[in-house]
Amino acid sequence: MRIDIITLFPEMFAPVFGDSIIGRAQKSGAVEIHTHQLRDYALDKHRRVDDTPYGGGMGMLMKAEPIALCFEAICAEIGARPHFIYMSPQGKTLCQGRLRALAAEEENICILCGHYEGVDQRLLDALVDEEISIGDYVLTGGEIPAMVFADALCRMVPGVLTNNECFTEESHFNGLLEYPQYTKPAEWRGREVPEVLLSGHHQNIEKWRREKALEVTAQKRPDLLK
Ligand code: SAM
Repeated sequence: MRIDIITLFPEMFAPVFGDSIIGRAQKSGAVEIHTHQLRDYALDKHRRVDDTPYGGGMGMLMKAEPIALCFEAICAEIGARPHFIYMSPQGKTLCQGRLRALAAEEENICILCGHYEGVDQRLLDALVDEEISIGDYVLTGGEIPAMVFADALCRMVPGVLTNNECFTEESHFNGLLEYPQYTKPAEWRGREVPEVLLSGHHQNIEKWRREKALEVTAQKRPDLLK
């Protein structure tokens, strides 16, 4: 999977994606993440990519043409048109099901990070395939939402995690929250690990985990069971 990110702040991404699981996945070639400085596609010598909104009002809007030029340059570089996503508080709220579908269906994804008051609507109408929100609140820019989205997406790409079970067993993959987990020591400050987990009886452990997953979901997120 290749992910291209259009942003005014490309330097924000290196510390997040350079290390740990996503950093290793990039080194192994399982995923490629490329950032693009939108100002490189500005049309004037001041490298301006924003302007005042027609009709008045507060703040500035990102202009359409630099974004279109940047997206077209990415298409030319890849030799294909990536699925174009705008991170937006107006989009559909991100969920595991959508990530799963995108990881399975898309080879190339381009993410647009908005800033200021957002983006000229004509650019969104002309080029964007999908708007994705990370929740019903407003951040100052699309960079953190893009990191959240790209991180969650990359870990579902084959070869990024050591074992697919790492995510198929996890919360939200199959509509349930994950069962409780424990590590050594078997007793910590008077609290013991459930006996069944020490039994070595795999069928009983599976049954216990399934029951606990249902119990935890009913307790913490009853809406998921509806
Ligand atoms: N004026 C816009 C509105 O009311 O819908 C909000 C603009 S926001 C201050 C600036 C940028 O941050 C947006 O263009 C978007 O890219 C990003 N952003 C803010 N909140 C977000 C969220 N919940 N999910 C995804 N992106 C978000």
